[in-house]
Amino acid sequence: MKQVEETLRQEVAKLLEDGTIDVFVGHEAASLPLKTSPCFVRSPKEVDRLVWNRICTSNLATYLPQLFKRPVGLKGEWTPPKVGVVAKGCDSRSIVGLIKEKQIPRDRLFIIGIGCEGMIDRHSVGRALGVVGLADAKVDDKSVQVIGTDGREKRIDIADVLAASCRECQHREAVLSNLTIGETPSSAPEVSHYANVAEFESKSPQERWEHWVGELSRCIRCYACRQACPNCYCEECFAEETAPKWLGVTTDLSDVFVFHLGRAFHQAGRCVDCGACVAACPQGIDLRLLNQKINKDVEELFEAQVSLSLEEAEALSSFRMEDDQSFMTEP
Ligand code: SF4
Ligand code: SF4
Ligand code: SF4
Repeated sequence: MKQVEETLRQEVAKLLEDGTIDVFVGHEAASLPLKTSPCFVRSPKEVDRLVWNRICTSNLATYLPQLFKRPVGLKGEWTPPKVGVVAKGCDSRSIVGLIKEKQIPRDRLFIIGIGCEGMIDRHSVGRALGVVGLADAKVDDKSVQVIGTDGREKRIDIADVLAASCRECQHREAVLSNLTIGETPSSAPEVSHYANVAEFESKSPQERWEHWVGELSRCIRCYACRQACPNCYCEECFAEETAPKWLGVTTDLSDVFVFHLGRAFHQAGRCVDCGACVAACPQGIDLRLLNQKINKDVEELFEAQVSLSLEEAEALSSFRMEDDQSFMTEP
């Protein structure tokens, strides 16, 4: 991974030097253990900030639409910047989706694709250590050495603390890129696609309800899940609209349900299962199950996967005469 990180820095320095890009969006070390932050590199002198490791969890596509917005109050001509970005398989699919939704222009983007072996789930590390707080952590290619806030130390295999979405991931390489670095990922999905959804579907309606009451009653409405998601780019979210007002600004279960169900429906046929929302949630709520259930339904109804290419129309923004319409006519 160190070699990939070095190559990434060299390539970004070249792109900035020769004017191919004005700014590069990557990951940098953060102040908290097992976290990286998105970073914006504008000069070849800054490329050493860039890191590439098993905690580059953020979906960097989230930060792209803002870069292409005309600065507020600017008068006269404005040319959008040329933007470089590093993309795992899931980031690249979000980029494809954002291009198709006309939020970012393909011709101003330079995408560096890196094959991905999966990212560490910080919540799982805490659970494996038996504490909530992490004082320090060091990650190498195969394991993570952690120290809890209670002083306890442990070495954990990365395979045991992989993010759930990475265990099922079928698209580990960028589906769209200008340049690819690193090697083809060696690992294959560990568990069958939608394994979690199949288990959930086997439950009774009462059990499903109880599951979600249990999960969502922990939600504090901090919106970290929304902010981490590349698909949540609306300037005004329905959760904050006041005319009409769709839901109250409370943590009452009914308001929390409306927020999460509304957001989940807005993700239908768009969620790439990057897991960024799950990683961002301070309460460890399994939002993935909700999005994956809807993705599975869309996939089965329309035989379409999300954002695999620029050419193919997305399931819910296109129409075929042979599409199954029974969900409308026979509810
Ligand atoms: S979902 Fe796939 S591409 Fe994305 S971080 Fe996990 S393994 Fe990598
Ligand atoms: S809903 Fe979550 S998993 Fe889906 S694209 Fe958004 S951040 Fe990624
Ligand atoms: S990040 Fe977690 S706690 Fe915050 S609004 Fe989302 S689900 Fe709720």
